Amino acid sequence: MKHTAVRMCAGCRERFEKTSMIRVARSPEGSAMYDPTKRITGRGAYLCYNRKCIDIARKRRALERALKVNIPDSLWEELGRALEEHTADEVIGSDCRSNTK
Ligand SMILES: [Zn+2]
Repeated sequence: MKHTAVRMCAGCRERFEKTSMIRVARSPEGSAMYDPTKRITGRGAYLCYNRKCIDIARKRRALERALKVNIPDSLWEELGRALEEHTADEVIGSDCRSNTK
């Protein structure tokens, strides 16, 4: 069985493959940032690509609690854009998924 890294969504609390989630990382300076590469070292929080989850996490301050930093409005907007871009890719590239390695 192939091992896949699974993370819990801060919104719906369901578990998904790390690669199919939005990552927010805490920088060494102690500020939160969107991490599209998922390679920023340090503490991270995850959200699945779902508008509802972003809204829930924002309302519950789930990312603030997970990362122990303030999440500015600009970051929430950035996450919203990341979601929209991802959703657009899904529609266009839904048949290409098996080709991506
Ligand atoms: Zn979720």
